[in-house]
Amino acid sequence: MKPIGPLPPAFARRRGALTIAGADAAALVAAHGSPLFVYDAGAVAAQVARFRAAMPGAVGLHYAIKANPFAPLLAVIAPLVDGLDVASGGELGRAIAVTSPAAVSFAGPGKRDDELAAAIAAGVTLNVESIGEARRVLAVGERLGVTPRAAVRVNPDLELRGSGMKMGGRASPFGVDAEQAAAVVRLLIDGGAAWRGFHIFAGSQALDAAALIETQAATLALAARLADEVGAAPPLVNLGGGFGIPYFAGDVALDVERVGAALGEAIERRADVLAQSALALELGRWLVAEAGVYLTRVIDRKVSRGETFLVVDGGLHHQLAASGNFGTVVRRNYPLAVASRLGADGEEEVSVVGCLCTPLDRLGDRVLLPRAGEGELIAVFLAGAYGLTASPSAFLGHPAPTEVVVGG
Ligand SMILES: *Cc1c(COP(=O)(O)O)cnc(C)c1O
Repeated sequence: MKPIGPLPPAFARRRGALTIAGADAAALVAAHGSPLFVYDAGAVAAQVARFRAAMPGAVGLHYAIKANPFAPLLAVIAPLVDGLDVASGGELGRAIAVTSPAAVSFAGPGKRDDELAAAIAAGVTLNVESIGEARRVLAVGERLGVTPRAAVRVNPDLELRGSGMKMGGRASPFGVDAEQAAAVVRLLIDGGAAWRGFHIFAGSQALDAAALIETQAATLALAARLADEVGAAPPLVNLGGGFGIPYFAGDVALDVERVGAALGEAIERRADVLAQSALALELGRWLVAEAGVYLTRVIDRKVSRGETFLVVDGGLHHQLAASGNFGTVVRRNYPLAVASRLGADGEEEVSVVGCLCTPLDRLGDRVLLPRAGEGELIAVFLAGAYGLTASPSAFLGHPAPTEVVVGG
């Protein structure tokens, strides 16, 4: 038997048939089909409210839409946050459909000239990732006759400790090395761009408040040092994000209130050169992961050499992360449940496997669940971030699942 991750707080103490924002899971599947992604708009709004209550008022909240770009969900989030961060021309289009281009920033390596042109024409801020990209931004702006808005993404000389994904303190395709950042800012300013500030993203999926506190203070200090080197105050300092969520057994939720209190103190102490700078954090998974549930139906229940398998109609082609094949070294179980009997005692050890013809397609590995026969729905939690759009949905040619937003 292997443990599953902790159910999100909204579901952890509930008993009986699973409901999402008051809607019965079985009824949702009856209406929309299986497999189904359900996103609770109210749960996202509650996370935003928690951020606002915990963080200093001076810190804006941006949503990194790659976590979940589903348009109806984006329409719910956009009015609640101060900015949308995009990482492709496709995401750019989705963002400017729901918010003002002035509130959109575009990061990511390898932006094509057509993507730069779309961003510059729309008035979106480009987070420039290299000196070559800075030159292309200026050239595209000149060709269009439009002043580009450009911030410099910095590859910091610091690292987010304990982060699931480290992105700072080493050679990186992301951002301009801190040692060269001021020179790239000067190039942009001298070339006629509207310099928008710094974007400093040091890592992702951190659950350790102390590590985030340390990184945020170091990020503010780095921004001040770079501003001194440039000799100008950055209009905006995007401090990155990295707020993690508990996926696996033993993970403990991030203490955001503690992070917010410490960030408030760091802001009080910030260098004078940043006194007029706007500040922002950009969060993806922390805002949306817990709001999503993936529902998939048991097609076949089979026993092989003493092991019971529940074969479901979904799988890693929709929810790759739950199969352990999206950025994890050791496969561990996401929280999951039999939807008709949430909170019921486990009765048998089963493996929940997807319908793809590959042994990688395993949503639950030797987990203890109440007995579930064919037709029963399995709920895989934490499906609100890096779900469908982070999965190889074309693999094996199964139909796409439906996504719905409920509540609000
Ligand atoms: C992916 C990404 C995010 C969002 O990360 P989460 O771990 O989902 O919060 C934020 N900023 C940048 C630059 C990213 O690439």
